Amino acid sequence: MGFLSIVENKEIYSFMLNDEQWDRLKDKYKNLSIHMPCCQTRAIPKKNKLGTQYFAHHPSSNCSVHSGESREHQFCKYLILKHLHENGWNVTPEFRGQTPSGEIWIADIYAEKNKAKIVIEIQWSPQSIEETKRRQDKYATSGIRAVWFMRTTPKNKWDVLDYQSYELPAFSIWLDKETRLLTASGAFNNWDSSDLVEIDFIQFFETLMKGGIQYSLKSESTRFMQLAMNIVKCWKCKKSTNLIMDINYFIHHEDKLIKIERLGLEQLSQPHSELLNDPTLLQNYQYGFIIKRFSKTRGETYLSNGCFHCDAMQGAHFSYRERDEENMIYSQYIEVKIDHETKIDGLWFYLK
Ligand SMILES: [Zn+2]
Ligand SMILES: [Zn+2]
Repeated sequence: MGFLSIVENKEIYSFMLNDEQWDRLKDKYKNLSIHMPCCQTRAIPKKNKLGTQYFAHHPSSNCSVHSGESREHQFCKYLILKHLHENGWNVTPEFRGQTPSGEIWIADIYAEKNKAKIVIEIQWSPQSIEETKRRQDKYATSGIRAVWFMRTTPKNKWDVLDYQSYELPAFSIWLDKETRLLTASGAFNNWDSSDLVEIDFIQFFETLMKGGIQYSLKSESTRFMQLAMNIVKCWKCKKSTNLIMDINYFIHHEDKLIKIERLGLEQLSQPHSELLNDPTLLQNYQYGFIIKRFSKTRGETYLSNGCFHCDAMQGAHFSYRERDEENMIYSQYIEVKIDHETKIDGLWFYLK
């Protein structure tokens, strides 16, 4: 089976025809010149149980060209090819290309639109992480952004987290044989959710293409910080002061801010901790300077809260004891850039 045939001397891909056009082709193909590209055998347009439109060799053929791919794998590819084609991409399945140094690669799906070049790999059979990385390097050196969908089970949808990164966008995919529904995963809704999303495969892919699935730790990208504070009584001057308990990080997408991390003061990068000493912030939220102070308890200097009034160190242990989740005060959102010191976990987020 294949997606391509030569109809009246024209290359026709099965995913380019809508249901109606496909039915019409099935009605009249016997009166057409229609051949498989591999061997010139007559081609027959078919649709299988999953819904994949494809061309089969006439039964009399003894052509030895077989993709060796399962029906399920073909179905996933078919859906992506169809989706990209319908969205104005110039798509080619089984595209052969090479790196600048002449190494050959074959992509499941290659697509171009204006200056953008992308590859989509549906990895239905197991592949080692090393091999995935090796193949990804070839695409990267060829100037192509490649996305991977690794076949898994609902239980093992977490496996991709072991090796996915900004450079290697790898997600999970599985097919329910009963319902024939394809589900994708490998991204979180937000930092507070303890489970990965499970979304219809094409919806997931469409969201990814529109920038609705993003990597938390993309270098130089814009993020937002929010201070989470509690009011405490300073141990020294006995006046009320705010202490910063956590710093939450957010990605801005469309009209929403989605939480992507929670850090403690001591985990902040230097550029981000310096922002906290902005006079307006200090004044608005009534917390002391965030600077390194010497702690006798710990016998070392560390980035700490201070009293707004007397600047006495309010140590980490004291802050921890005073933490009051119910009465947290949250600051405005503060725009920051991801720098190389930012200790946010690298994760993919589904921002819808
Ligand atoms: Zn053939
Ligand atoms: Zn004080």
